Amino acid sequence: ETMINQIAAGEVIERPASVVKELVENALDAGATRVEIVTAGGGLNLIRVTDDGSGIPEPELALAVSRHCTSKLADDIHDIRSLGFRGEALPSIGSIAKLSIRSRTATSDSAVEIAVEGGHVSPARPAAANRGTTVEVRDLFFATPARLKFMKGERAESSATGDVVKRIAIAFPAVRFTLAGSDRSTLELPATDDTPEGRLRRIAQVMGKDFPDNAIPIDAEREGVRLTGHVSIPSFTRANALQQYAYVNGRPVRDKLIAGAIRGAFADVLPRDRHAVTALFLSLDPATVDVNVHPAKADVRFRDPGLVRGLIVGAVRQALAGAGI
Ligand code: ADP
Ligand code: MG
Repeated sequence: ETMINQIAAGEVIERPASVVKELVENALDAGATRVEIVTAGGGLNLIRVTDDGSGIPEPELALAVSRHCTSKLADDIHDIRSLGFRGEALPSIGSIAKLSIRSRTATSDSAVEIAVEGGHVSPARPAAANRGTTVEVRDLFFATPARLKFMKGERAESSATGDVVKRIAIAFPAVRFTLAGSDRSTLELPATDDTPEGRLRRIAQVMGKDFPDNAIPIDAEREGVRLTGHVSIPSFTRANALQQYAYVNGRPVRDKLIAGAIRGAFADVLPRDRHAVTALFLSLDPATVDVNVHPAKADVRFRDPGLVRGLIVGAVRQALAGAGI
């Protein structure tokens, strides 16, 4: 069983940022309004995620770390509204790191803690905590030293973690996120709200000076596919990674089709040395899109790629024209 979990971990957990992604998604699934992330050593020494969500009832705590135990029901396999990847994350993490979970539900008057090390689960014991859940992961990959060799160093791992948190945070403006590491990857994103203004404020919190005040709103629909969000052209040349955020049904994705459509839409108006800054949200019938092609990646397969591409290119061009660009 530990072996199977380690193989699954190889699929899902590539680096510390993958752990952070899974833990933060679990917190959001649990209805958290505050998510606090602490890392040390680029996440290889420590990752701790604390939330104020529903908590895990004591009888379910041991189940939560066993394989394919999920409390989340999907109506069908295409339902991607719930972010979890079917009960794999915690057992996978428990097989390659030292994992502890402390949790308290609204109806219990104390917390319970459980620990997993090298796949071995210790009995639950009482602990002190507020409502919600704290998941702590220490010594990631200690059980799979080969994987450790692929890590890129503290700075690179921290920045990958920062990127994961930013991507998720843009989709959840009403949730407060904090990220504290041993270096400069610190983030503090106070809750805004789930309105167009609130979402724009969250985007500005995340992107800082990269997202100018003159952002252009996008809101278009074609054959049941809705596109909302903001686009902008920064006034300076960007040397580092693109600030292009894309979401499908609320879930962060990196997708070639979407990136290509954005490039196409801006082709005529963008100076060579500049990149558009975008936060775009697609919502469509979950049955017409497949996001979880691979648990660790965020590729998307649209049933009608031409429709999605046409919608993005058309809507962005129209918005740019409307803004006199
Ligand atoms: P999945 O998210 O696909 O269900 P996980 O392995 O990530 O699988 O989590 C297993 C289960 O543990 C979840 O279904 C949920 O019941 C519980 N769980 C994990 N993290 C949290 C959390 N932060 N708050 C509440 N419940 C949690
Ligand atoms: Mg999960």
